[in-house]
Amino acid sequence: MAKADYDAIVVGAGFTGLYMLYKLRELGLSARVIEAGSDVGGTWYWNRYPGARCDIESMEYSYSFSPELEQEWEWTERYASQPEILHYLRHVAERFDLRRDIAFDTRVTAACWDEGAALWAVEMDRGERLAAHYCIMGTGCLSSPNRPDISGLGDFAGETYLTGLWPHEGVDFAGKRVAVIGTGSSGIQSIPVIAREADHVTVFQRTANFTVPAHNRPLASEEQAAIKAGYRELRALERHSPGGVGSGPPQSLEPILATPPDELREDLERRWEIGGLGGFLNTHPDTILSAEAADRVAEFLRAKIRETVSDPDVAELLCPASHPMGSKRLCVDTGFHATFNRENVELVDLNATPIERIAPEGVQTSEKLYPADIIVLATGFDAMTGTLARIDIRGKGGAALKDKWAEGPRSYLGLMCAGFPNLFTVTGPGSPSVISNMVVSIEQHVEWIAGLLAELRRCGAATVEPLAEAEDAWGEHVSAVAAPTIFMQADSWYVGANIPGKPRVFMPYIGGVGTYRAICKDVAAKNYAGFAVDGQTIPPPADFTVYLGMTRETEAA
Ligand code: NAP
Repeated sequence: MAKADYDAIVVGAGFTGLYMLYKLRELGLSARVIEAGSDVGGTWYWNRYPGARCDIESMEYSYSFSPELEQEWEWTERYASQPEILHYLRHVAERFDLRRDIAFDTRVTAACWDEGAALWAVEMDRGERLAAHYCIMGTGCLSSPNRPDISGLGDFAGETYLTGLWPHEGVDFAGKRVAVIGTGSSGIQSIPVIAREADHVTVFQRTANFTVPAHNRPLASEEQAAIKAGYRELRALERHSPGGVGSGPPQSLEPILATPPDELREDLERRWEIGGLGGFLNTHPDTILSAEAADRVAEFLRAKIRETVSDPDVAELLCPASHPMGSKRLCVDTGFHATFNRENVELVDLNATPIERIAPEGVQTSEKLYPADIIVLATGFDAMTGTLARIDIRGKGGAALKDKWAEGPRSYLGLMCAGFPNLFTVTGPGSPSVISNMVVSIEQHVEWIAGLLAELRRCGAATVEPLAEAEDAWGEHVSAVAAPTIFMQADSWYVGANIPGKPRVFMPYIGGVGTYRAICKDVAAKNYAGFAVDGQTIPPPADFTVYLGMTRETEAA
């Protein structure tokens, strides 16, 4: 009979993998982390494009599990740059001596459940095979870059780069003509920086996106010290908030449609001056539910674009009009719109003149050829399910996860899937994940999984698996919460619309980080309601809607 090499295999050494390894060690379990990159960092290892920066504030986009780490680490800016976050994660790996249990430059290709032995057999691209009781996927939500299927791309005579797979040695744009395809967060961050270096930049825009200013700045040490002094309370606020963020302007109590225009303008101006995502997502209780309400904020943001961009035709093209504000990921920028006032920057509207093909000399639209030396593909990711689908994951009876998810991902709490015992998906589809501060959601999942593993050990159980009825009930709840929101009205990556042939399903859980935490906590308190532990089943909670709107106080009571 097969024997376990480790108690757990963890896939990925980003924020998830590092903390999961730390927790497994704390439980006295042996673990191996398998990482495709040559270093820790996950998304912050790969996404090194110019201007890459987190758009959650650094004091909140950081681990909370170690108060010592929290106090020691000094962030230099309000929003940390990619190199600084990578530096932080390297520091975490050293500080907690994590590297010795991580295999780098190794990609997991398959994971197969051996029912007789109750083990996961994990295969790697270097031919190695390892068996473990638990397989924990820390593969990230945005880790499979989308290389668009544009005819002729392979024939381009210049250099081509994907923002999500940026070369470590950097790219020299000086004196070059650069074509950037894509105006999501990655494009919006990189275009102003590339424009300052390159000879000429042509931006190919299919959908204009909403973006708000970062107002990034150095973090004064007094400000940092003050936040650190109140860190426990800030962390508690994050955990019980809708999006995992504890600071920023609060939501106005009055619906936006009932707010007098002058009052609204004043409120939005104040939010604009503060900058950042937090102030503009969920400004009012109705903006997430009504396109008309969201449009009041959209009109404010469009007015800002018209004020900033000197050419009125270019300004109109940059004004988002195809989707409600907030229904696609809101972007946070530093000088994005003002970049179009530069002489060396040109905007091409792909709705009027679509790309026909990439020629060896540049980008050929229906109107003309745009010569280029470098093409930057800021074209996003096969989000949330893409990386898991690339691994041949097989559960009971050899069933493939890819087949189970053919019509869209199905899971219980975004954490586990029926038919796949002892397999965990950290920040998996069906959990708040990408709709939240990822670090807060990662910590919550890692801690919940650690609690479950401790419980299995305590009672000597070998397997845990969600019940099919729990998975169905959770799937219905996730869809029911999303159905009345504006998120269903956009062709976003949240619904898989950016990947041809991907089923259209809203993948994250939009009920809120606090609500979700309360649900997970209650499921555990009810002896893991909705799970089978060594075949012993406990039904799932009868109604997940009762948790909605649960506050820290009501949860505590
Ligand atoms: P994205 O939001 O999916 O944007 C991709 C862009 O490429 C869109 O403008 C899209 O147009 C365009 N595109 C895709 N295929 C195309 C094609 N064949 N022809 C022309 N245009 C094409 O991807 P992203 O910018 O990498 O961002 C993904 C997510 O990563 C973000 O939403 C965010 O959650 C995260 N992220 C965060 C940060 C941060 O923290 N600061 C930075 C970067 C990314 P359509 O919209 O028309 O499809």
